[in-house]
Amino acid sequence: ISAQNTSTNPTDEVRPIDVLWLYPRDMNIYGDTGNVLTVERRLKLQGYEPRIHAYNQNDQWPEHIDMVLGGGGQDTGQKKIGEDFQRRADDLRKLAAEGVPMLVICGLYQLFGKYFETQDGTKIEGISILDAYTVGRDVRMIGNLTETSDDFGQIVGYENHSGQTFLGKGAQPLGTVAGEGMGNNGQDHTEGARVNNVIGTYMHGSLCPKNPAIADFLIRKAAEHRYGTYEVRQTPEMAAELARIDADAHNA
Ligand code: GLN
Repeated sequence: ISAQNTSTNPTDEVRPIDVLWLYPRDMNIYGDTGNVLTVERRLKLQGYEPRIHAYNQNDQWPEHIDMVLGGGGQDTGQKKIGEDFQRRADDLRKLAAEGVPMLVICGLYQLFGKYFETQDGTKIEGISILDAYTVGRDVRMIGNLTETSDDFGQIVGYENHSGQTFLGKGAQPLGTVAGEGMGNNGQDHTEGARVNNVIGTYMHGSLCPKNPAIADFLIRKAAEHRYGTYEVRQTPEMAAELARIDADAHNA
């Protein structure tokens, strides 16, 4: 994925938004890359210049970060990133405290909590941005997932995890399972977690192509972080394309 100039931007001012893409090598299953592609496209169509920084273990940490995205992964992938992730924990906690929006799916959602104890009893430490912990069980929770959220309305996606997540008082659920699916743990009907502008969720799908309101929330918060305000600058062609994409998303 390469950052390109938005030559169709109706103003001359280039407005970069730097997106940190966490561990695409090990944490990127069930199409979670779709979240990155969607954010990149929607940023361009709203007159921003996306700069996507893929970060794997031992890579250089980007100078500017306005948004953080991360996907799911197998237990083995979660173990592989563990050490490097702990080294970056302070940087990520600082960004979260500054209000940088973050979206982390499944395996990284679990590691944004306090810890993930896998089925074999290994405890993988998290970075405690989200007040939640996860315990691996021998039942996989697989299938379509639908939830309702006060902030985003209906959210649809697909879940596939054996970790059961339980929220503490410091985290709100992203939504309430409504209809299909198990959610955080199959017991309390909560799904995902939200603290400040950080969202963790089990929703694969990918999430953002099917739920553009979440992509636009991340973009708004990223723009506010970088520029103090969020301002769409688009030609009528850009607006029309965005409307077409939105119409398709709701049919998907
Ligand atoms: N390994 C974790 C689990 O099974 C996360 C899986 C995922 O990211 N889909 O719970």
